[in-house]
Amino acid sequence: MSYSGDVRDVVILGSGCAGLTAAVYAARANLKPLLVDGHEAGGQLSLTTDVENFPGFPEGILGPHLIEHIRKQAARFGTEFLAGSATAANLKERPFALTLDHGRTLHGRTLIIASGASARMLGLESERRLLGHGVSTCATCDGFFFKGKELFVVGGGDSAIEEGTFLTKFAQQVTIVHRRDTLRATKIMQDRAFKNPKIRFIWDSTIEEVLGSTSVQGVRIQNLKTGALTEMKADGVFVAIGHVPNTKIFAGQIDMDQAGYIVTKGGSRTNVPGVFAAGDCQDHVYRQAITAAGSGCMAAIDAERFLEAEGH
Ligand code: NAP
Repeated sequence: MSYSGDVRDVVILGSGCAGLTAAVYAARANLKPLLVDGHEAGGQLSLTTDVENFPGFPEGILGPHLIEHIRKQAARFGTEFLAGSATAANLKERPFALTLDHGRTLHGRTLIIASGASARMLGLESERRLLGHGVSTCATCDGFFFKGKELFVVGGGDSAIEEGTFLTKFAQQVTIVHRRDTLRATKIMQDRAFKNPKIRFIWDSTIEEVLGSTSVQGVRIQNLKTGALTEMKADGVFVAIGHVPNTKIFAGQIDMDQAGYIVTKGGSRTNVPGVFAAGDCQDHVYRQAITAAGSGCMAAIDAERFLEAEGH
């Protein structure tokens, strides 16, 4: 028997750039969206400082301020916000159901999943404390702030090598610290990095501590084979050890790739009619605030058209 209680036209999961932009568009289409903040309200932008590449802000804007602006814009047109994160979902029946950590279950004729991806971190207290103050998870976003500086990148995959190579445009030197002695990155990326005179590697090692109280001053590196600790001067640390899409509660109910990213086709559509995905939960390639916002807009338009076609 289908649910006969309160059903929203559009339920949005996630309050980063993608979810909030979807809310602006859905609200302006009079769909009265209900937006669930998710476990990291504001998404990855709320963990960063200056954003200089979001069009429209010639002087740049702080990540949390940008989020606050889009949130106010979404509220202005009638978005309803709910704190909390989703612990379970049912996409097998319509209306779709989303259960929140405080026990409430929401029902939507459409669902926009904009639950983002979380950068995998080393798990150090100093790394968390200095995030946005010299520690970064996005070279495209923050590289520009490190002209002539001494930078460290952690990781051995394509992201680490790509970010390390990109950072040499600004940095005096980039040191890539990898926990093994061979890279996981594709051969062509490796070759490019090996040839770059600004890049050096420290193998079989990890950053054991980021040094500095209010900004990054150095790193303590541990050789994982010998246990030896070495302190080195550093102005910035880029953690590039992968991302984890926040899509676990949808596993088995929607098409995902091997890494858990939701597969979208033709805009924001997923294989479940009425369920749309936007932002980093479906994008491991671009991962930018502006591309997340753009895909949030697409999801709202797709949801609106879906509802219209269904006669709502
Ligand atoms: P990834 O391929 O999963 O690589 C993660 C790297 O971080 C690995 O080298 C891993 O070491 C290391 N690592 C993981 N956890 C760690 C920890 N706790 N401490 C220290 N090191 C740790 O992730 P990715 O580089 O972000 O790439 C993700 C996907 O996107 C891949 O499919 C990749 O090919 C793709 N991508 C493609 C491009 C491109 O083609 N231009 C650019 C970026 C990403 P181990 O090697 O020892 O496991």
